[in-house]
Amino acid sequence: MNLEELNKQRIIELKKLIDNANYYYYTLDKPVIEDSLYDSLYRELINIEKEFPQLKSHDSPTNRLGGETAKGFKKIVHDIPLYSLDNAFNLKEVQDWIAKTEKLLAQSNKKCLVAELKIDGNAIALKYHDGILHTAATRGDGKEGEDITNNIKRIKSIPLKLRIDKPPQWLEVRGEAFIDLHSFKKINKLREKNNQTLFANPRNACAGSLRQLDPKIVSERKLDFFAYQIFFPDNFKICDVEDNHWTRLKFLKNCGFKINNHSSLIYNTEELTNYCNFWEKEREKINFDTDGIVLKINNIEDQKKLGFTQKAPRWAIALKFPAEEVSTKILNLSFQVGRTGVITPVANFNPVQLAGTKVSRATLHNLDRYQELNIHELDTIVVRKAGEIIPEVVRVIKELRVSKAAKIPFPVICPSCGEKLERQPELSATKCTNKRCDSINIGIIQHWASKSAMNIDGLGKKIIEQLFAANLISNIADLYTLDNKKLMTIERMGNKSINNLLKAIEESKNKSWSKKLFALGINHIGQVTAQSICNKFDNIIKLRETTLENPERIKKINGIGEEVIESLKNWFLDDINSSLIDNLINQGVHFSDALEDITLNLNPKINQKQFVITGTLNSMQRSKLIEKIEKNGGFVKTSISNKINYLISGENPGSKLIKAKQIGVNILSEKDIIAFFSDN
Ligand SMILES: [Zn+2]
Repeated sequence: MNLEELNKQRIIELKKLIDNANYYYYTLDKPVIEDSLYDSLYRELINIEKEFPQLKSHDSPTNRLGGETAKGFKKIVHDIPLYSLDNAFNLKEVQDWIAKTEKLLAQSNKKCLVAELKIDGNAIALKYHDGILHTAATRGDGKEGEDITNNIKRIKSIPLKLRIDKPPQWLEVRGEAFIDLHSFKKINKLREKNNQTLFANPRNACAGSLRQLDPKIVSERKLDFFAYQIFFPDNFKICDVEDNHWTRLKFLKNCGFKINNHSSLIYNTEELTNYCNFWEKEREKINFDTDGIVLKINNIEDQKKLGFTQKAPRWAIALKFPAEEVSTKILNLSFQVGRTGVITPVANFNPVQLAGTKVSRATLHNLDRYQELNIHELDTIVVRKAGEIIPEVVRVIKELRVSKAAKIPFPVICPSCGEKLERQPELSATKCTNKRCDSINIGIIQHWASKSAMNIDGLGKKIIEQLFAANLISNIADLYTLDNKKLMTIERMGNKSINNLLKAIEESKNKSWSKKLFALGINHIGQVTAQSICNKFDNIIKLRETTLENPERIKKINGIGEEVIESLKNWFLDDINSSLIDNLINQGVHFSDALEDITLNLNPKINQKQFVITGTLNSMQRSKLIEKIEKNGGFVKTSISNKINYLISGENPGSKLIKAKQIGVNILSEKDIIAFFSDN
C-alpha cells in the first residue's frame, strides 16, 4: 500500500470512531471515550486531511459544528449560530493566532485581549424578550438546539427577568451551564447509594440533567450558569464608552447574571504567559472543571472586522490545558531488565505532546498488564501521564486494530543475557535471575550513582553502558578503580568530562553511611529504612554480623519487619555481595559515618582535618592519596573555604591555589603530605 492508500484507510477508521463517539456523546448522552482522547483523534484526522486534501470527504466529522440534537425535546433554530472555537495546544500557537489577527486587522497597535477560564460544562443560548426569559436552548449542532426552557428556569443564577431598566426588545445571552465539583460528588454519592450508574464527570451529569423531562431534577442537582457572551439590536447601547467585550461582561453582571470573576484583561505577552501558567496549575483548586482558557479580542469593532471562518470566530481561540491522555500508534514493545531482574514491557511510539512534555515511550508495568492490554503490531494505544507519574499505556483502541496484525510476544528468555526467564506470580513479575546479567548489573550501578543515592554527576545510564561494553567495570567497586587512562578509551569523553567524572566518583566516598546502604539497592531498603538501620549500627560489618548471627536485634528497630530482615539476610549470604563490600572498603568506600570504627591507626596530623587537592601528583594516584587521608581520619573536599585546613598542591595547580593563598589556607606539597604519613 502506498502512503495515500494507508492514510485513506486511517481516515475511514478515524471517521467511524469519531462519528460513533459523537453519537454516544451528543445523542445518547453516554460518552464512550475521554475528551482529550477524542481531541487527539480529531486532530489526527484534521492533520491527515490537511496533508491529503483530496481525501477529505463531505461527510467528514471535521465539517461539523457540533453534535446531533436529541429526540424528545422541541427544536429551536438559533438565529445566531453557536460556533465552536479553534483550539491552540500551547502558548506558541496562541501567539501565532495573535500575530495572524493583528495582520488581518492591518493595525500596528497591540490589541487588548480578554482571558476567561473555559468552563467544562454545556453551552446554552438564552433569549429574552423585553427583559423576560423567553426560550433557552442547548447548543445542538450549532444551528439548531433543543428547547430546554423549563429546565433552565430552575437554575437560580439565571435571571427570569433582567435587572435593568429599559431592556432592549430582544437580547440573547450565551454561557455555560455546569455543576460544581462539590454538588457533583454529592450527586454521584446518592446514585451509588441508589444503585444507579455513576456520571463520568460533572459535564456529563449537567448534560444529563438538562435533558431531564422533569425540571425538578435540575434544582435538586444545583445546576449553575456563567454568562460570557451577549447579542442585542444595533440601536441599543450598553454604555457610553467604547463597546468592548469587557464592558459587555460588566453589563451582563448588571443584568443579574453570574460572571466568572477569574477573567482578566491582557495587554502583553508577559501578562498572557502569567495568566496561562497560573491557571494551568491553579485550576485544580477551584470548585468547577475547566479545560482551558478562552482568549477573545476585546474590541467589538475589531471582532466584527475579523468575522468568522466556516466553523469558528477569528477573534477568539481556546487554549486547551495539556492533555493527560492521548492516543498514538505503537512502533514496537521493548522489554527492559531492571536492577532486580524484573522485566518491564515498554511501548515505543512517535513522540506525542502529553501533559506539557514530549513523550515517546510508556510503561506497561508488568506481565499481567501486558496480558490485559494484549497489544498487537501497529495498534493505536492510549497513553496517560498525570502529574509526575511516568507515562503509562492505559488501553488499546481495538476499533483501530489493523486486520491480521499479530500480537507482540513476551520474551521467554532474558533480552539481555539470554537466560530463561522465571515467572513469579506472587510479585506479578517475570524475572531474570542470572546474577551475571549485564542489564541487572548496569541497573545496580545506575541506582548506586543516582541522585537520591550517591549522586555521581555525569554517570548516567549511557556512560555506564559504555564502561560495561569496554569491560572497564562489572560492578560498583570497579567504579573506584577507574582512572584517566582507562576513561580515555571511551568514545566521546574529553579531558574535562573525564576529570569531572573521576572527581564525582571520588567525592561519592564522602557520602553518609545511610546513603551508601540505600545505594546498594537491597530489596525493601528505602531511604527511610536505611536511615533507621544506620542509626542503630555504626558500620556495615556490624550490620552483616548481626543480620547473620543475631537478627532478633534488628527487629527491635522501629518500622523494620520480617521482610527487611529476610532481604538483608539473603543479600549478605550472597558471596558476590560479600566480596563487593570488601572490595568497596578496600577502595576507600567506608560504610560508616564514624571513621574510628574502621580505621584504627589515626594520624593526629590528618585525623579530623580537611584537605583539598589540586594539580597533578607524581608519586601516587589521586584516589590513593584520598584513600590514605580518609583512612587516617581526614576528609577530602573539593572546594576551598575557610573550613579547609590544608591544600595539597601538585604540579600545575589550578585556581584553588590562588584562592587558598588569599584566605590563608596552609599549602602542602606532595612531599609534605607524604611526610605527614610517615610521621605516624
Ligand atoms: Zn538477564
